[in-house]
Amino acid sequence: IIEFKNVSKEFEGNVVLKDLNLSVKKGEIFVLVGPSGSGKTTSLKMINGLIEPTDGDIYFNEKRIKDYDIQKLRWQTGYVLQQIALFPTMTVKENIDVIPDMLGWDKQRRSQRVDELLNEVDLDPEQYRDRMPSELSGGQQQRIGIIRALAAEPDIMLMDEPFSALDPISRASLQDLVIQLHQKLGNTVVFVTHNMKEALKVGNRIAVMHEGKLIQCDTPEEIQKHPKNQFVKDFFDETN
Ligand code: ATP
Repeated sequence: IIEFKNVSKEFEGNVVLKDLNLSVKKGEIFVLVGPSGSGKTTSLKMINGLIEPTDGDIYFNEKRIKDYDIQKLRWQTGYVLQQIALFPTMTVKENIDVIPDMLGWDKQRRSQRVDELLNEVDLDPEQYRDRMPSELSGGQQQRIGIIRALAAEPDIMLMDEPFSALDPISRASLQDLVIQLHQKLGNTVVFVTHNMKEALKVGNRIAVMHEGKLIQCDTPEEIQKHPKNQFVKDFFDETN
């Protein structure tokens, strides 16, 4: 569904991605993992056109990202950020409804969708749909962040360190939620984290990045059994 072909990126002469080649398959949770500054967020933002490559091309459903209408592309790619980014002056329902509303879904379908999604993350619609974000815990807010990204049934969901601001218990339960939703929906997810343990737990395939380069791309089992070099081995040990 996504293909990076010889992608490089420079910011003011600073090389942050070097000749990156990778592909994400439809229906998998693909994790980009690596230390701070390795280029994970930059790669993720290229998938929805927030950043353009300096060299090379990225394909989404076999069409170059640069040939898409960027607005439509963003609607097809649900984005979940580290900072819980709900609109503070909008209710839970209004937050979830933003993209379906922009896409012109009819009112009844939108209301049904909100309730269905709240049930999906174990938040009772009656009790939660009219609350303000400030009336929710951090973990509950990020549950809303996830279902908001899923609301319009995007082709792919992009998640950038979505749980790193949460306490360990909320983080574990949201990791489980991502896995459960994926088992149920079979959706495609690209998930960025600097934590190998998290990567191994949620990922179907993992791309280990270091200084703008892809070091190893494999299943969690393979990465654990056969780390490609010392960097992968050390990184694995340090974050476990
Ligand atoms: P982190 O986990 O800290 O977010 P990361 O692996 O996601 O790290 P990126 O955010 O992709 O890394 O950043 C890679 C490099 O690119 C960093 O050195 C960063 O300073 C640089 N960089 C990112 N965005 C810009 C920008 N808009 N202008 C200049 N440099 C940038």
